Amino acid sequence: MRFDELARSYERLEATSKRLEMRAILVELIRPIRPPDLAHVLYLSQGMLRPEYEGVELGVADSLARRAVATATHAEEADVGRRAKASGDLGTTAAELLAGRPRLETAHPLTVANVYAELTAIAQAKGEGSQEVKVRTLVDLLGRASPLEGKFLVRFVLGTLRVGVREMTILDALAEAFADGSKAARTRIEAAFNLSSDLGLVAGALVEHGLDGLASIGLEVGRPIRPMLAEREPTLAAVLERMGGTAALEFKYDGLRVQAHVPKSGPVRLFSRRLEEISAQFPELVADLPSAIRERPAIVEGECVPVDADTGDIQPFQLVSKRRGRKYDLDKAQTELPVRLFLFDVLLAAGTPTYSEPFPARRERLESIVRPNEHVAIAEQRVVASVDEATAFLDEAISAGGEGVMAKSVKEGSAYRAGARGYWWIKYKRDYTVGLADSIDGVVVGAFHGRGRRAGKYGAFLLAVYNPERDRFETFTKVGSGFDDAQLAEMPKRLAKFESSEPPPEVDTGISPDRWMRPHLVIEVRGAELTLSPIHRAAVGAIRAGAGLALRFPRFTGRFRDDKGPTEATTSKELLEMYRLQVRQEAADPPDGADAAG
Ligand code: AMP
Repeated sequence: MRFDELARSYERLEATSKRLEMRAILVELIRPIRPPDLAHVLYLSQGMLRPEYEGVELGVADSLARRAVATATHAEEADVGRRAKASGDLGTTAAELLAGRPRLETAHPLTVANVYAELTAIAQAKGEGSQEVKVRTLVDLLGRASPLEGKFLVRFVLGTLRVGVREMTILDALAEAFADGSKAARTRIEAAFNLSSDLGLVAGALVEHGLDGLASIGLEVGRPIRPMLAEREPTLAAVLERMGGTAALEFKYDGLRVQAHVPKSGPVRLFSRRLEEISAQFPELVADLPSAIRERPAIVEGECVPVDADTGDIQPFQLVSKRRGRKYDLDKAQTELPVRLFLFDVLLAAGTPTYSEPFPARRERLESIVRPNEHVAIAEQRVVASVDEATAFLDEAISAGGEGVMAKSVKEGSAYRAGARGYWWIKYKRDYTVGLADSIDGVVVGAFHGRGRRAGKYGAFLLAVYNPERDRFETFTKVGSGFDDAQLAEMPKRLAKFESSEPPPEVDTGISPDRWMRPHLVIEVRGAELTLSPIHRAAVGAIRAGAGLALRFPRFTGRFRDDKGPTEATTSKELLEMYRLQVRQEAADPPDGADAAG
């Protein structure tokens, strides 16, 4: 396939913000493509070279890309820099400069295969001399590129490709291009993706063997599964009612979710909730898991929490987040900030998938294969059948340092549902019963200049929740409080890469911030209550026509949710649920605010 076809599709994708139109363009683009181009086109369109969990990075800094553009177009680097500053996008500048340069008549048109191979070479260049290799490879590519191709090549290497195709849209397009486009087909395709986290793999199996071919995609040690997610209920009584009277309650540990892949021999690999590999950050878990798990190869899941080295008591979450981003002094961190992994599920044991078994069977299996040690334990659990029992267990969880309980269905159909949020798991934090005490994970989609003490910096941020149905980020608040000086100083750095001169098409809001941000950074906020707003667009129209949900008196909790990607932020539906719970509670709560959990 020629690369200019892809570039032209990107141009069309960029020009629309309508999901249906995007899907149609995508369908038209991918329908004629076959492996291996197909996987490559899907990865490239998401701004990646490999599935996200592999964490492949190009390692191309702005300065390096500027240099390559200058060399390829015989321009002065300083001039390229000035033009890029004016246009706000080096890709646009590259296109302008390429348009003014005589094109080599003899050059072969670029193909997707060429481009993919060269970009892979750029990503693989490591160590001494690698910068030169990266520049040279990019210069070669640009030398053969049309202006339009050059624009997208530059944006791709800088990680600023703005064609905005997300996984959900790609899944829709796959169902339409390679199956009958029905909901049933879409569901099966999504299920294969949830198990493999690799759209390229799913697309390949689908094209070559049809929907039935997807069955061949199973679990593989080293390839993460998309995590199962929980719903919420306002009271323990409601939790039990949902679960049919009986539920397995577990401590809800407040830490980092870890999916551990433990092969029979060879290194253990750990993945975060967003499927980033975090093995290097937790060497003691990597070391201790093989001896803790009896039936390998296995895939187990748990929550990694900080513990006191002396007492083994659970410590506040913040301590473990310090370990996560750490690149140096890992051994020191290990002794200074000890952790323990509380396992709560098993998805594969002795090489055989267990995820489709009901939860009680999985728990039994987990208990039989885990030999707890200093760093690996099993989550506390009790099966309860009354609100009294549940309340007693909640008290235990809170006093042991948990943040609440996780209720799990023990019904026949309680299989592990990869990538899905549902009432098979329900989270309950004690403070749900007193107003809107639950936090919200919001995506930063804009920033406002500060005033007074904050002059010259950003003073507030526009936040959105994610609406998967529309594949849009809908704003719900503007938050300025709760940031300390260091955090405020950190924000521009964290956001620089995502600044956008225009409103990102995937953002839906009635407010214009001073700076738009492409949805990426997720931060945790709390607030006093949810109200209806004419300018915010979260769950717009769900309660009243034209009105969205808005958070009053928002406050940053100090917690950057680096473990969540933008599409894993709180959803519009969850926000709506929180709004409804709040309303129901106001109606139900006696004026003295007695505990509604009974
Ligand atoms: P939240 O992040 O508030 O949506 O809560 C769900 C998260 O709770 C999961 O993703 C896990 O990281 C965490 N968690 C803590 N304890 C448990 C448990 N026993 N079972 C399942 N998830 C748990």
